[in-house]
Amino acid sequence: MKIICVGRNYAAHIAELENERPEHPVLFIKPDTSLLQKKQPFFIPHFTDDIHYEVELVVRIDRIGKHIEPQFAPKYYSHIGLGIDFTARNVQQELKAKGLPWEKAKAFDGSALVGDWVPKTALPNLDSIAFSLEKNGKIVQRGNSAQMLWKIDDLISYCSTFFTLKIGDILFTGTPAGVGAVAEGDLLTGFLESKEAFSVKIK
Ligand code: ZN
Repeated sequence: MKIICVGRNYAAHIAELENERPEHPVLFIKPDTSLLQKKQPFFIPHFTDDIHYEVELVVRIDRIGKHIEPQFAPKYYSHIGLGIDFTARNVQQELKAKGLPWEKAKAFDGSALVGDWVPKTALPNLDSIAFSLEKNGKIVQRGNSAQMLWKIDDLISYCSTFFTLKIGDILFTGTPAGVGAVAEGDLLTGFLESKEAFSVKIK
């Protein structure tokens, strides 16, 4: 399986990192080895001391497809979840400045946390899914799918023009504003429609 991630999908997050608003979705991929094992802590990797959390809505693909039209995209997923796209921000800034690919900053082992899956039929409105992230019990990020520049169905369509989507693939849909650093001992807890979706200890 692969993990396809979308960068710069929320205007307020684009502004906080002083990025340009893209003409098309920014895509990058994490390999299956980036998936953090369930209930495991996140270990800050040795090559960085600047790990940021990015809480994001995630979508699980459950049908194979290529060149999917947006209106047919809903047939390709039945579950939504919440995850963290852990980012070595200092490494990413260096790579970005040189125009180099981001994998060392974004695709390392354990960099993709995926919480519990929720059937999309259990969510009242996919165009308005509320989610948040708490660090040590204090809210640090709050988002809503209504704020996405590209909606889930548009993203699935766009991704499928480059990559065949396969059963079990996971789509990270971008982070809202409020990203920040973690430190050893922190506890991150994600909430999807006010229900806990994951809890992870930083080590
Ligand atoms: Zn992200």
